[in-house]
Amino acid sequence: NVRVRFCPSPTGNPHVGLVRTALFNWAFARHNEGTLVFRIEDTDAARDSEESYNQLLDSMRWLGFDWDEGPEIGGPHAPYRQSQRMDIYKDVAQKLLDAGHAYHCYCSTEELDARREAARAAGKPSGYDGHCRDLTDEQKAAYAAEGRTSIVRFRMPDEAITFTDLVRGEITYLPENVPDYGIVRANGAPLYTLVNPVDDALMEITHVLRGEDLLSSTPRQIALYKALIELGIAKETPAFGHLPYVMGEGNKKLSKRDPESSLNLYRERGFLPEGLLNYLSLLGWSLAADRDIFSIDEMVAAFDVTDVNPNPARFDLKKCEAINADHIRLLDVKDFTERCAPWLRAPFAPWAPEDFDEAKWQAIAPHAQSRMKVLSEITDNVDFLFLPEPAVDEASWTKAMKEGSDALLRTAREKLEAADWSSPESLKEAVLAAGEEHGLKLGKAQAPVRVAVTGRTVGLPLFESLQILGKEKTLARVDAALE
Ligand code: GLU
Repeated sequence: NVRVRFCPSPTGNPHVGLVRTALFNWAFARHNEGTLVFRIEDTDAARDSEESYNQLLDSMRWLGFDWDEGPEIGGPHAPYRQSQRMDIYKDVAQKLLDAGHAYHCYCSTEELDARREAARAAGKPSGYDGHCRDLTDEQKAAYAAEGRTSIVRFRMPDEAITFTDLVRGEITYLPENVPDYGIVRANGAPLYTLVNPVDDALMEITHVLRGEDLLSSTPRQIALYKALIELGIAKETPAFGHLPYVMGEGNKKLSKRDPESSLNLYRERGFLPEGLLNYLSLLGWSLAADRDIFSIDEMVAAFDVTDVNPNPARFDLKKCEAINADHIRLLDVKDFTERCAPWLRAPFAPWAPEDFDEAKWQAIAPHAQSRMKVLSEITDNVDFLFLPEPAVDEASWTKAMKEGSDALLRTAREKLEAADWSSPESLKEAVLAAGEEHGLKLGKAQAPVRVAVTGRTVGLPLFESLQILGKEKTLARVDAALE
């Protein structure tokens, strides 16, 4: 039975790398009809807050993820918040100490730094040098008498550690590169290095799928697992798969601080969760060479972590938007109109709530749907229908209103007044005919009409827009532009 986990630290707003990790774990669990464990790694009291915890859950729900064990639903290994599991970690740390797999280390930071510098200068490995590995009881007592405090360090075996990464294949770490490491702070607080693998062991995780940034902690965790198995705490070492880095602008690792890495930004701009997830799945994985657009169900049906490409993936906002646009087009119109709803009200909508006209909205929606990258564009696209006067963008106005525009507008007004308003074609013919009289092609002739009526130089198909706005308002706006 496959058991995977998603175990973020709830620090602030989730970033897209984290979402990709969640997605791959979720898809792997669902593909294998396994169990997804959601665990909150909130042992850093200084950075974790209840607010970011709630934000994280809310984001996961918005993305459409579900989990089989974890916060809000519980499970056989509850609690699933590390802040509520401290006694468990202290107990394991004590067992490791008792069995000799861990020891107290009394070295001060200054001493460690000095020895590290010296090792570096001598061209030797600069990790922890094992100074406190084999202290006698007398030596320990003497250190304690000096007033020194101690951390707990895990004793790494003196042997190479080899494992087969599900994404990268066989990897070997030599002992000089994996020194003994701290698992409990001097104040008694267990560290991530202990709590993360201990929870994986107790929660019987079979596959650890996580970011490449955690690759170097894997040999330490494998050694710790061996000790836990010996102590009867763990059953089996899980398989590990490290997902490739996500690179941003300038081929630098996308960091939490990059604005385009923030999930909230995508939510606020009106990405569809399915569009965003489709794009994020392509960061290291693909369904087929010729298929960029697919549903989450198709992904689940095909997903295997061993197909993930170990090379860094490049985050491309343009492509992300293009994929989202495709998913917007794939919605049925009713679904589309409902999903736009938040952007048709305050605080986004600039019109008064009573000026919103449901029938006009239903009429324009299909024309908008095929032209949008993100849902937030809907507000500007349709505001001309609901504002008493168009929101005029000065730059557009100057660009569209050239010499001769007034004369063209006058002719267009006459012809529009005489046109048959039951079809957009007739309105198009009116503007086309006006253009001909002034020696202008349709594109040039419609620009001043568009800006007079909608306030902008670009927007939805013009003649459909005019028809939906209605004859009276259209003519009034042309008149206003001519004043
Ligand atoms: N809590 C860790 C993080 O937020 C994840 C550790 C892991 O996946 O093993 O980066």
